[in-house]
Amino acid sequence: MKYYDKLIFELSSEGRQGFSLPQPSYGGTTSDLPENLRRASSVSLPQVSEPDVVRHYTNLSNMNFGVDTGFYPLGSCTMKYNPKINEEVAAMPAFKDIHPLQPSRTIQGVLTIYKELSSSLSAITGMSAFTLNPFAGAHGELTGLMVMRSYHRSRGDFARVKVIVPDSAHGTNPASAAVCGLEVVQVKSTPQGTVDVEDLKPLLDDSVAGMMMTNPNTLGLFEPEIKEIAALVHSCGGLMYYDGANLNPLVGVVRPGDMGFDIMHINLHKTFSTPHGGGGPGSGPVGVTKALEAFLPNPKVVVTPESYLKVYGRSGRPAEDDDMAAGQVSGFMGNFGVILRAYTYILMLGRENVRKVGPLSTLSANYIKESLKDCYHLPIPSVCKHEFVFDGLEDKSTGVTTLDIAKRLLDYGFHAPTIYFPLLFHQSIMIEPTETESKETLDAFIDVMRRIAVEAAENPQTVLDAPHSTPVRRLDETTAARHPILSYKNLIEE
Ligand SMILES: *Cc1c(COP(=O)(O)O)cnc(C)c1O
Repeated sequence: MKYYDKLIFELSSEGRQGFSLPQPSYGGTTSDLPENLRRASSVSLPQVSEPDVVRHYTNLSNMNFGVDTGFYPLGSCTMKYNPKINEEVAAMPAFKDIHPLQPSRTIQGVLTIYKELSSSLSAITGMSAFTLNPFAGAHGELTGLMVMRSYHRSRGDFARVKVIVPDSAHGTNPASAAVCGLEVVQVKSTPQGTVDVEDLKPLLDDSVAGMMMTNPNTLGLFEPEIKEIAALVHSCGGLMYYDGANLNPLVGVVRPGDMGFDIMHINLHKTFSTPHGGGGPGSGPVGVTKALEAFLPNPKVVVTPESYLKVYGRSGRPAEDDDMAAGQVSGFMGNFGVILRAYTYILMLGRENVRKVGPLSTLSANYIKESLKDCYHLPIPSVCKHEFVFDGLEDKSTGVTTLDIAKRLLDYGFHAPTIYFPLLFHQSIMIEPTETESKETLDAFIDVMRRIAVEAAENPQTVLDAPHSTPVRRLDETTAARHPILSYKNLIEE
């Protein structure tokens, strides 16, 4: 163990101080605080010098893995590089120092950005209008389903309680439908991995509120029968919901609006390069067709007759009688810091370069797939979009599983792909390289994946015991999930 791997509490020494606080600008002292707000005894913090604090946090950050550290091919998550200019713009005082309750007339620039990002997203997706209020993809799904339900109810149709979801769907799809009070009905995939239209047909009747799909689906495959599926669902009176988590390969190529979708969300933290991981921050804008615009949640940015932008429907203000909004899904107007990052990303690329995102991410994924399919089992060999799935090693006799391969990759400095999802195969390894990686990086990853396959055959124990070089070795994942140790005190007690 290195000296600085010690817990900061172990380095503590009575009387040492790692900070200096400014004198209060009002000239008072802490004893001016009312008695009931003052601590009776001092909080037990480690007493260390400033360099010790700096080293503690810097060393902790080095134990982490991020897109800025290395290649992060986590399928379904679109871990593309987050350009640093996004951060600069989001940190500008003009944006960072505003308050969500400021009067509209003092934030015209901010409301203009809200409007402009909404129109860019409409142009990219073929939707008519967007709300930027939801905080994540799953939150967008819930919002979109609330819009769907409000639409049916506005026509006096209360019988539509079912949502059709493919068996390959991301877990948030059925979960969001259930949270929205809708019933989930599953439709099967064909052996080729796309929605089975024959299985879908008998499910369609006047109890169907709509169908949720992502395209390309979670196997990275484009659904070739999407137009027929949309027509079938529409003909029974249902609406089509597009889970936009897989929008990246379509950017600049095809638009969900043109495929027959009525409602969709976008994960700005996936497709539009805002940072994510560890639960946030995120943003899940929801777009709808013209006919559904009125159901988008409040608050909204509206244009007054004097071409002035105004926030309409803030909580606490009386709604107008004809307000059909599907409620309110966030305290204010979403994660504005994330919205700014996505806006910056789109403006930096511009119309011409946005068109290259989809084709390049598709090329990267197919390049890796074709380069590894002789040593990893490729259950569905067709051309993929931005990601694809292997089902473990081609040679299953070595005893090396997908989990072992994922752990061994860490030793070579790569983040693991998504593993054991989708659930359609036992040994799923889902790889998504994105368009921001160079050919050299893709080649290095291919090389390491091939090397692991050789190790599995010649020296399987090395792979079974991996990782060897990470700050902690292989964890007992069940105990880590069931009994997480979240405080240093528990660590010492254990
Ligand atoms: C990531 C993802 C979601 C959920 O999005 P969050 O922003 O994580 O809530 C939904 N569907 C698919 C296919 C995804 O990959």
